[in-house]
Amino acid sequence: MTHIYDTIILGGGPAGLSAALYAGRGKLDTLLIEKATYGGQVATTFEVDNYPGTDIGITGPELSEKMRKQAAAFGTNFIKEDIIDVQLDEKIKVIKTAKGEYQAKTVIIATGAEPKMVGFKGEKELRGRGVSYCATCDADFYTDFPIAVIGGGDSALQEALYLTKFASKVTIIHRRQGFRAAQYLVDKAKANEKIEFILDSVVEEATEEKGLLTGLRLKNVLTGEQSDLQVEGVFVFVGYKPISDLFQGKIKMNEFGEIITDVYMRTDVPGVFAAGDIRETTIRQVVTAAADGAVAAISCEKYLGEAE
Ligand code: NAP
Repeated sequence: MTHIYDTIILGGGPAGLSAALYAGRGKLDTLLIEKATYGGQVATTFEVDNYPGTDIGITGPELSEKMRKQAAAFGTNFIKEDIIDVQLDEKIKVIKTAKGEYQAKTVIIATGAEPKMVGFKGEKELRGRGVSYCATCDADFYTDFPIAVIGGGDSALQEALYLTKFASKVTIIHRRQGFRAAQYLVDKAKANEKIEFILDSVVEEATEEKGLLTGLRLKNVLTGEQSDLQVEGVFVFVGYKPISDLFQGKIKMNEFGEIITDVYMRTDVPGVFAAGDIRETTIRQVVTAAADGAVAAISCEKYLGEAE
């Protein structure tokens, strides 16, 4: 007979790992399915300075591993498999992966988000050949070379600062004068002598030679003036999109594909909860994702108690 878990958590970022910790402590029979790296986006972040109770300078991978170990200590089972389909509308939910099928009374969706593409000519073709979305993964390739960063949010400024440890120069290209990023990051970037800014500008096209990026063609959005910037690499940080294709038509979402929940992290489908960057929310921090995960697991426990 197929084993039926109390809950299956989809995704092993901070929301999923925190849900796993709380579900484990609540003695729920729990399975967490992650397709790639535990920690999700945090695992690709160099330093996490704003998660309470951790040492200053803790790296994203270190924090992720601490979270995973803590959840495992309370009995959560972990598997690394790619989820290909979900059936959520019946009392027993079915999660299909490339390798098998798993069943549970409840599901917590914590599949997170992935980087958005900016859309300039050559971005797709030169991905991994000069175009990158992960500073921790690729910074080392650009040691002593000039690079660019696109975006004006927390990610762009924080990762630009990190990239100055490697690159000879980092040019931040942002489409307007004002920044979405926290002021302390803007101040820190402005004070860094390796960082330059090109504002009110967008990247129209990447230039390449033998399949490798050699520079960017920019356009000033106010004057229409075009210019060329010679860089060996460009890092794109223009926001993230939810990883929710699997749930389209099965769960209520907003126009951006973010799952709508109430304050208990309940979706519109009984027994299905969502937590972290996958859901419609305003603040996307490790601490808020972890909080969502805790709420989702506690709500899940309550749902199971009421169902009995
Ligand atoms: P974000 O806050 O949405 O910022 C995206 C940036 O990219 C904005 O400056 C935006 O410009 C620009 N942009 C968007 N589409 C563009 C396009 N097509 N062409 C050119 N520029 C474009 O995204 P994020 O920086 O990735 O942050 C995501 C969330 O994670 C936020 O909630 C953030 O606070 C959080 N986060 C926090 C930290 C931290 O606490 N240290 C670190 C990283 C991320 P406009 O401003 O003009 O819209």
